Amino acid sequence: MDHTDLYIDGQWRKAADGARFDVLNPATEEVIASVASADLADADAALDAAAAAFPDWAARKPRERSEVLRRCWELMTARLDEFARLITLENGKARADAMGEATYAAEFFRWFAEEAVRADGLITHAPASGARIVVQHKPAGIAVLVTPWNYPAAMGTRKIAPALAAGCPVIIKPASETPLTMLALMPLLEEAGVPKGLVNVVPSRKSGALVDHMLHDPRVRVVSFTGSTEVGRKLLHSAADQVLKPAMELGGNAPLIVFEDADIDKAVNGAMLAKMRNLGEACTAANRFYIHDRVADEFTAKFTAAMGRLTMGNGLEDGVDVGPLVNADTRDKVAAFVDDAVARGARVEIGGTRPNGKGYFYPPTVLSGVPETADCVHDEIFGPVAALQRFSDQEDVIRRANATEYGLVAYVFSEDMKRAMQVCERLEYGMVGLNRGLVSDPAAPFGGVKQSGLGREGGHEGMLEFMETQYISADW
Ligand code: NAD
Repeated sequence: MDHTDLYIDGQWRKAADGARFDVLNPATEEVIASVASADLADADAALDAAAAAFPDWAARKPRERSEVLRRCWELMTARLDEFARLITLENGKARADAMGEATYAAEFFRWFAEEAVRADGLITHAPASGARIVVQHKPAGIAVLVTPWNYPAAMGTRKIAPALAAGCPVIIKPASETPLTMLALMPLLEEAGVPKGLVNVVPSRKSGALVDHMLHDPRVRVVSFTGSTEVGRKLLHSAADQVLKPAMELGGNAPLIVFEDADIDKAVNGAMLAKMRNLGEACTAANRFYIHDRVADEFTAKFTAAMGRLTMGNGLEDGVDVGPLVNADTRDKVAAFVDDAVARGARVEIGGTRPNGKGYFYPPTVLSGVPETADCVHDEIFGPVAALQRFSDQEDVIRRANATEYGLVAYVFSEDMKRAMQVCERLEYGMVGLNRGLVSDPAAPFGGVKQSGLGREGGHEGMLEFMETQYISADW
């Protein structure tokens, strides 16, 4: 928490208008920091700095960019404990989850250090004209990055690392609930050799106006957003004015299907990961559980028992598995989903009652017999509530799983690989976890279809989001 000002052009600055906002610890509701709130003049300063840093960085040899990114990974890896503590303080997640996030966040630097030297192209003969077709990838230009509060480190590094690998400068606007982790990363990037102006951080209370202003600056070429579908749509409208390259990682409504031939213990472990990693505050969180009639009683009993073994409390304390939700609004929304499902006939297997006292806590909750009409079947719960339904027919469960405007991730549990692969291929999702409750991996293309987004982060595809393709038709 040493750094609470804006980070522009390699310097710590107050906001031009002097504005600041408070950041709270969700476990105690105490103010832990007062952070500078960027205004339009600050955005202009960040754009100037990024524009000045661009030519030199874009001209660096890929190997040089790669080595800077590699040092970012080494330095962050040496300080995982500090990052994990900060993540817990501002987001609330328990220490093991925070360590998991910090490790995952650092890995993006290592992965894109390796990818930086592999921006391949193509030279070939045109079939008829005799010309040579030369295809190469070039850095697209300044990228505006907007990130959510659920992964304060990883959602930033997942964008910064590929942008830098591609040769682009960035301006990042972290979520107002959790700006401290991204600010804390900046001294480390400096130490790794990131030149001044290449990465700028502008937390702000005025997100809408600030981001809209930047997206209308002609020097900006990319907007990469992670957050709700609602805000993503707004940014796509703004991006249209200058025809920016958009990368959108938006909301989800993940189905988790357990077939009658699943290994139930494996399915329970997978379901725990898919539901409870980050307390369900993840776009990849399993939202709707479809359990085959023949195994529903066994799965429900074992899963409820596993949820019951979790200890809730301040994420910094030893022995705590799950912390608080990020803020009162999120907690109230989760409670309303449970109340709605219960009013429509769902049964509470465990949890379901909001504790008294300080902190935005809500307990691990399992609902069974959730009717298709319940709000939690159609909307993202974003909390520690599992909504269980039953099915008996494969075609019916595929139809129900696909009956959503979202398409980020689905989970399938079955030991019959032929059937499992056939089901996976028919699911309208950008990612599928097959007998696994965790799909995120820096080496894999993360992203959704339908209203879950556009573009991919990580994998080989991640760097291309920050590059333009140029084709030269040559005669030689
Ligand atoms: P959000 O959309 O409210 O906020 C995300 C970011 O956008 C924050 O930095 C916020 O300050 C900023 N923002 C808010 N309004 C804005 C506006 N009008 N213009 C520009 N920026 C604006 O989302 P959230 O509540 O922080 O995060 C939860 C959502 O994010 C969930 O829907 C979740 O599924 C989604 N999410 C998706 C992924 C993914 O990779 N697909 C990952 C994490 C979270």
